[in-house]
Amino acid sequence: MVSFEEARRLVEQHAAGVCPGEVETVDLLAGLGRVLAEGVVADRDFPPFDRATRDGYAVRAADLAKVPARLELVGEVKAGDWPEPGACAVGRGQAVGIMTGAPLPAGADAVVMVEHTSLGDAPAGKSMAELVEVQRSVRQGENFVPRGAEARAGQLLLDRGRRLDHAGIAIAASAGKSRVQLFRKPRVAVLSTGDEVVEIDATPGPAQIRNSNSYSLAAQVQEVGGEAVRLAIAPDERKRLRALIEQALIEEGLACDLLLLTGGVSMGKYDLVEQVLGELKAEFYFTGAEIQPGRPVVFGSCGADTPVRVPAAIWPSARTGVPAPHKKYFFGLPGNPVSTMVTFELFARPMIEALAGMTPQRLIFLRARLKSEIRTKTGLKKFLPAVLSGEFENAEVELARWQGSGDIATLARANCYVVIPPDRERIEAGEWVPLLMRCG
Ligand code: AMP
Ligand code: MG
Repeated sequence: MVSFEEARRLVEQHAAGVCPGEVETVDLLAGLGRVLAEGVVADRDFPPFDRATRDGYAVRAADLAKVPARLELVGEVKAGDWPEPGACAVGRGQAVGIMTGAPLPAGADAVVMVEHTSLGDAPAGKSMAELVEVQRSVRQGENFVPRGAEARAGQLLLDRGRRLDHAGIAIAASAGKSRVQLFRKPRVAVLSTGDEVVEIDATPGPAQIRNSNSYSLAAQVQEVGGEAVRLAIAPDERKRLRALIEQALIEEGLACDLLLLTGGVSMGKYDLVEQVLGELKAEFYFTGAEIQPGRPVVFGSCGADTPVRVPAAIWPSARTGVPAPHKKYFFGLPGNPVSTMVTFELFARPMIEALAGMTPQRLIFLRARLKSEIRTKTGLKKFLPAVLSGEFENAEVELARWQGSGDIATLARANCYVVIPPDRERIEAGEWVPLLMRCG
């Protein structure tokens, strides 16, 4: 049994040593949520020209030292126009109408917003030109972004190893990357155990429950950018459990990079996962962490010399006795649905991120004011389902009423977990508490 912090440290230490999969090239949008295997570089200056950020008039700031001032209107540039310096330039006492996103014409050094101007009539003898009256002065450089101020051509915009979110997609799109090089998604085997567990489309017997964990885990794996491979449900029976674990660890056809087991890691007479992994010469880095829910969680690996033999009946294509090609990590997560989800977030997520080619993300905690007092027992770090409500400075949180870590229905009401340190027995209403968000 290790502390939460030590368990996290061990996972991060092992995650730092794993290698991502091969590189593949995909259409940009198909890369959403996946990890870049190449850096994305600016193919031109950003912005590529001095870009107006307001609708108004391109002017020389010096002409507006005294306001109101009248300027001669000598042209217009709208977004998409290119103001040839010979044809469209701002001379002393002149202005050019300009729209947001248009390039600043030569000679101008600021844009005055249209709201601070009014159009006058052309004086006699100047039929083509109009006059614009400006009520406010501007500073040099105001209301436009100089060419290259956001990024220079050749500058790195997105690092290799970064997960593409919608902002990353926008950045890659603006650099003309219609196809991107990504790391292959890690394949994560999901193996639920338990004699009482049946597939979700089966009609459960009176003492049976549906296999929700394989689905929540597969969903979490996908949210993190992995590909889930759901295996058959393993009964609480040594031989069959062992065969399924061996299949997940070595079957070439499955080619899994990580194994997630649920259930069977507690102290019960039929909790056989640790025992079977032990028979497979697994190395355990921790067996139990001082957290609630999720205390029985285990983390380990099976190495190259694991004596795996898969009976042909279970895995006909198996080359019996072939050792696992390289070290494969596994997590044994407790079977209670909320424990499964929490332990995935805390421990499996960083390992999958590393296998996906990222530097694992630090856990992000938000804080909110506690709505009503919490009393708990000391000794374990707790992650309790809670409801965050209100917005901005009015955000407040309270524990969801629940029947313990098997209570999956509570999760429909809860949207986060309140984190309680192991030494706190009582937390007053009004205190700011850290929250682990249930994120996608
Ligand atoms: P265990 O960790 O095997 O002792 O299981 C703890 C609790 O979680 C028991 O009430 C199980 O019935 C339940 N459980 C185990 N596996 C699953 C699963 N795959 N889906 C939903 N509940 C499960
Ligand atoms: Mg069980």
